[in-house]
Amino acid sequence: MKRLLSFRSIPSGLKTFAYFCLKKSSFSTSSSAVVLLSGGADSATTLAVAVRDGFEVHALSFDYGQRHRHELVCASRVAERFGCREHRIAQVDLRVFGGSALTSSDCDVPKDRQDRSSSIPVTYVPARNTLFLSYALAYAEVIGATDIFIGANAVDYSGYPDCRPAYFRVFERLASLGTKAGVEQGVEYKIHAPLLHLSKTEIIQLGIRLGVDFGMTHSCYDPQESGRPCGHCDACCIRQEAFHKLGFARDPALERFQ
Ligand SMILES: [Zn+2]
Repeated sequence: MKRLLSFRSIPSGLKTFAYFCLKKSSFSTSSSAVVLLSGGADSATTLAVAVRDGFEVHALSFDYGQRHRHELVCASRVAERFGCREHRIAQVDLRVFGGSALTSSDCDVPKDRQDRSSSIPVTYVPARNTLFLSYALAYAEVIGATDIFIGANAVDYSGYPDCRPAYFRVFERLASLGTKAGVEQGVEYKIHAPLLHLSKTEIIQLGIRLGVDFGMTHSCYDPQESGRPCGHCDACCIRQEAFHKLGFARDPALERFQ
C-alpha cells in the first residue's frame, strides 16, 4: 500500500517509466543471466556477448560423463577471465543412456570426416540442449534471472534439431508455463542464442573483438591424455579451418602444448 501511494505521488509524465522500473525490480534487482559454458570456443564467445550486453553472469557447466574433463578446466578459466558472479558445475550423468560417441565407449568419435553436412553425426548427444536448458532455467528461477544464453549454432552443425530457432521459441514458452515465477509473476524467459546464424569464422572474429582468449578454450571431442586436441574430430577440424581462414598459423588451443 505504501508503495502504491508513493507511485501515485510521481508526476504523470514519469508514471509509465516508473511502472516498468517497479515491475522489473519486483522480480530481479540486477540484470543477471545464466550462461551455459562448456569451455569451448562457442560458449566462451557467448559468455563474452552476455558480458558485453551488460549482464551479470552466472555460468553453468556440466560434468555429464563426457570423455574428458579438460573442457571443464577451460570453462573455469574462461569464467574467471570474464569475472562471472558465479560458476556452477552440475553433475548429470548421461552415460546412463549412452547413445552418443561423447558419452559411450561403444562408439568412436569420427575423424577427418569430409562431408560434415549430410546427417546428424554420432557426436550428437540425445536431448542434451533440452536437459542443459532445463538446468539453466532452474538456476535462473532461483537467482531471479530471466535471461539464459546458449552458444548453439545452426551453421557448422546443421541438422541438430535442438539448435533451431523454433526450438528455442517453444522452450521460452515452456519456461513461462512451467515455473512458479512464470505462473505467479508473469515472468517471460528469454533464450539468447547469439551465435545461431554465424559461421565458425564469424564466431571467432566476434570472440576476438570481445576479448576471448581462444587459447583458453577447448572444443575437441577426443583429446589426448594431456588435453592436447586430437586435430581430427569435427570440432577440431571446424576450428582449425576457421583459424586458418583468419590468418592464424594454428589453433591457439595448441599453444599450451608446445
Ligand atoms: Zn579433436
